[in-house]
Amino acid sequence: MNDLKHIEAARTAFYGDYLARWQAMIDAWRRPAASPKMWLMYAANYLFNTGGVRWALDPLRPNRLLPDLPVEVPTEALRELSFVLLTHSHTDHYDPDLLRTLSGSRVRFVVPEPMLEQFDAQVHPDPDQIVVARSGSPLTLDGVRIEPFNGWHWAQQPDGRRTGMDATGYRVWVAGAHWLFPGDVRTYRPDALKPYAPVDCLFAHLWLGRGCALIRQPPLCQAFVDFVLACRPRTLVLSHLYELSRQPEDMWHRRHADMIRAHDAMTNASIRLLAPAVGDGLAWGDEGPQAILEPSRVSRVG
Ligand SMILES: [Zn+2]
Repeated sequence: MNDLKHIEAARTAFYGDYLARWQAMIDAWRRPAASPKMWLMYAANYLFNTGGVRWALDPLRPNRLLPDLPVEVPTEALRELSFVLLTHSHTDHYDPDLLRTLSGSRVRFVVPEPMLEQFDAQVHPDPDQIVVARSGSPLTLDGVRIEPFNGWHWAQQPDGRRTGMDATGYRVWVAGAHWLFPGDVRTYRPDALKPYAPVDCLFAHLWLGRGCALIRQPPLCQAFVDFVLACRPRTLVLSHLYELSRQPEDMWHRRHADMIRAHDAMTNASIRLLAPAVGDGLAWGDEGPQAILEPSRVSRVG
């Protein structure tokens, strides 16, 4: 199937079952969990239950990006969150309408310094809900150790200027393991992640060049693989696929994930690669994460 047909099929499937998937995800997330678990709320938006601590990174309703979805997803249960980590204020990561419904609850918001003013004006949190994320200043929230760091969302222009956005990445310690979230990256410095090696689980956002998603071999494949491998991840969770509000030339999907999976350097490094679909979950065991298969539906985890 060509890319355009594949995207249309994925869009039709998503519009058909997003509400049921969201509800199943929330129900599963609320159940007590012995092992760490993660669900994908949307393309690169994560919900966690780790040792009974419920938290999220860039939580987002699909309705935020797809206003023609017929029904709003219910969000009341998210008031049970312990904390929320925010990376940056692009619309596919930051959902102020959702976050505003969490103000006045016990949820704490970990907000990067450059976002503080905008966050305060749009979300109106209680002042004691805000925790400022600063690179090099580790935090502990409900026993979870979190280390914010400056990300690489900016692009270097030929004249040396940096354009783009300041974004915060996070390293999080879970059950003796550490997980790395570099967030959106637009400058793949090959050694950027080296100081974090080895990483138990790397959450990497697939991006292989602006406007390049319809090209057979997008130009940044090698740069992406070099970037990822520098931290020697045991498991790679690949996300930012099927961001359905984007144009096809900027939408990453299964073909691109398969291209990374089949890359020689990836197979030589024998890294487990998982590319969960929106609504799908992963549960961590001794062997690393496995797809959580809800009996009521067929998982699209790849
Ligand atoms: Zn972004």
